[in-house]
Amino acid sequence: MARHLITSAIPYINGIKHLGNLVGSQLPADLFARYQRGRGNEVLFLCATDEHGTPAELAATKAGQPVADYCAEMHEVQSKIAEGFRLSFDHFGRSSSPENHALTQHFAGVLADRGLIREVVENQMYSKADGRFLPDRYIEGTCPNCGFDSARGDQCDNCTKQLDPVDLINPHSTISGSTDLEMRETKHLYLCQSQMKDEIEAWIDSKADWPVLTTSIAKKWLNDGDGLQDRGITRDLDWGIPVKKGDVDWPGMEGKVFYVWFDAPIEYIACAQEWVAANKGTDWQRWWRTDKGADDVTYTQFMGKDNVPFHTLTFPATILGSGEPWKLVDYIKSFNYLNYDGGQFSTSRGRGVFMDQALEILPADYWRWWLLSHAPESSDAEFTWENFQLSVNKDLADVLGNFVSRVTKFCRSKFGEEVPAGGEFGETETALIEELTTRTRAYEAHMEAMEVRKSAQELRAIWVAGNEYLQTAAPWSTFKEDPEKAAAQIRLALNLIRFYAVLSAPFIPDAKDTLLAAMQTENANWPDDVPAALTALAPGHAFTVPDVTFRKITDTEREDWQERFAGTRD
Ligand SMILES: [Zn+2]
Repeated sequence: MARHLITSAIPYINGIKHLGNLVGSQLPADLFARYQRGRGNEVLFLCATDEHGTPAELAATKAGQPVADYCAEMHEVQSKIAEGFRLSFDHFGRSSSPENHALTQHFAGVLADRGLIREVVENQMYSKADGRFLPDRYIEGTCPNCGFDSARGDQCDNCTKQLDPVDLINPHSTISGSTDLEMRETKHLYLCQSQMKDEIEAWIDSKADWPVLTTSIAKKWLNDGDGLQDRGITRDLDWGIPVKKGDVDWPGMEGKVFYVWFDAPIEYIACAQEWVAANKGTDWQRWWRTDKGADDVTYTQFMGKDNVPFHTLTFPATILGSGEPWKLVDYIKSFNYLNYDGGQFSTSRGRGVFMDQALEILPADYWRWWLLSHAPESSDAEFTWENFQLSVNKDLADVLGNFVSRVTKFCRSKFGEEVPAGGEFGETETALIEELTTRTRAYEAHMEAMEVRKSAQELRAIWVAGNEYLQTAAPWSTFKEDPEKAAAQIRLALNLIRFYAVLSAPFIPDAKDTLLAAMQTENANWPDDVPAALTALAPGHAFTVPDVTFRKITDTEREDWQERFAGTRD
């Protein structure tokens, strides 16, 4: 049995994510996890919320809540939505967990001991009234470029000019409104990535099978300009993991926290510890420590392209730099962006469909199928309502749903609600079984390679093959001439329903449950032997006709939704 450690990029705690976020990491990771489990392999699938940093503090302030309460509440919200989409995490953790605090402090201590952390003195804006240093986003003033009076310390939202807080005219703190600000010296820690450039580059060069999208981004950061730069890993904030060297204080770093991008990937490991703490597992080290059994684990990460630099450079620098036997990622599957109906999804403008809204209008399987079969792999992809309607109505309702409905209803009317006996397979059936065998092996190869779109295409072709068989064999005509032959045809077709349920489960898990329930079987074994799998339901096996498996989307619905999600959510 192979062992697969699978992580999805961890979504930021602040707000509900849109469908573009979902298809960029969590959903394809779930597809792969479900497939590997379906093949009988051992899987640990982890995800978490990314809870530290300034945006969480700002959102909590806006919501009038202490930031810890805000994060706890939003974690529950995201957790419920993940369940709604059937994301089958073995654990959905939190980067603010005690486990991640301890582990992040541990890594910082070890890296410091190995000479890979240096202290840097910088100047930063300090607010006397607030008694704290202010991150750029906490400072507003008049834009020196366009005169806009609420430009932020890092950027003017009116003219989009990148700014430095000292550029602002009449700067003030957004916390207290105080204008009593001054530049003060503050000390920060930097991870010496530049010292590790050769080691990281050699490691990336050893990954000849990685997608070009992943390696090209990593190479750009390694070699463009002055090459890989050291990176600040601490911030003057209250909310975050306190800077410590292991479990002891770090002189001069009192009151500071680690930068969110330093602690977030470490949560992948801490999440496995949380999984054990939650009594869902017993041994996290055999997944993460190569000296404790993780050397036979295949570790795959899923993420959007914007997250690639941190996963190919900063996190590996942390792991390699520690000199400890932690498991390194084996494969990084990265995605381009999903756009929305001629533009971009926009969280701030409420443009596009957000995960909670999607589940209000249709069940998870509809979204899962469309998103995965249109995953932005080789280039950006676009969601349009026309395409969504077409794909759902054709693939799910006309092809798969209709097959199930015709076969079960016909059988009930002619043979009753059980798999009919009698008759033998002829040339048409043999040809179908051969085609399905070839296609099933192709589907497996695409799934193993994490080729999401190609997998969906092959699965659709497998559904289509059944429909075409039904058209050719035409048991409703055969029945009049040769009822025995029609019985054999329908027996094969009923077995195809179970076969489809099992193969389709990674994409549309609820349909798998519905179809297996209708076929009154719990046999979800993967069809390693396709001909045998197509005789799993023996003559006399009872079934029921399921309700409509997939319904069609009407033109009126499509138009309503198009208007509703054009952008006004608040
Ligand atoms: Zn401006």
